[in-house]
Amino acid sequence: MTTPPHPAPEAVRAPDALQARRAFLADRLAAVRARIAEAARAAGRDHTGITLITVTKTRPAEDVRLLAALGVRDMGENQDQQASVKAAACADLSPALSWHFVGRLQTNKAASVARYADMVHSVDRVCLVTALGRAADRAERELRCLVQVSLDDDPGRGGAHPDEVSRIADLLAGSPLLTVAGVMAVAPPREPADRAFARLREVRERLLGDHPDATVMSAGMSGDLEAAITAGATHVRVGSAVLGARTPAPPSP
Ligand SMILES: *Cc1c(COP(=O)(O)O)cnc(C)c1O
Repeated sequence: MTTPPHPAPEAVRAPDALQARRAFLADRLAAVRARIAEAARAAGRDHTGITLITVTKTRPAEDVRLLAALGVRDMGENQDQQASVKAAACADLSPALSWHFVGRLQTNKAASVARYADMVHSVDRVCLVTALGRAADRAERELRCLVQVSLDDDPGRGGAHPDEVSRIADLLAGSPLLTVAGVMAVAPPREPADRAFARLREVRERLLGDHPDATVMSAGMSGDLEAAITAGATHVRVGSAVLGARTPAPPSP
């Protein structure tokens, strides 16, 4: 038994509700893009070097299509069950969407994720590299991977210890269809985000020594994207600031 996604990804709105939703998303998206541009300006960075990933978890495929119509190409999801359904429901879009898997990933979901994901942000252990490598071979698709770094000692959020990053990165680089594209982190709750993201930046600097193409730094969510951009984030993962507050998800299966 599996719990159905929440809400059903195929939920369809009436035309006037769809119009209202489009206007809502357009407003919020403009506000988030303005925040990104302002944070980049304040940091002396070019905002075109920062990719906005809208995290559409718990939201229907219809929201993904509305965001695509508003010019978003990068979508983030944290559960294979939801992501695979939405990727299939949006496969006809042109230009094609890029799907980012940002959640904790079990090895038995690697085969599915390799069929639709373009970037996996949450590679944090050796067995996952092995599983993703096999899955990418079978799917005959390239998978860009980020090493997720734990910025504290809480095992609940996932992420490799900073000292483990280079070993995981070397393994990724040695797998034919996987590439090590950079690092990712979620800021710990009990520390100012700017301090935590500064440590992530150091981890990336060290990684770049051995893997000069691993330039991605995926950091920053609705509440802390400015701190992440100041620290050098190239990809921000924004959910609620664009899509509205999420209703609590049902318990995981
Ligand atoms: C949900 C989620 C986000 C987006 O969070 P918001 O606070 O809604 O912007 C970003 N990254 C990960 C890993 C997530 O699970």
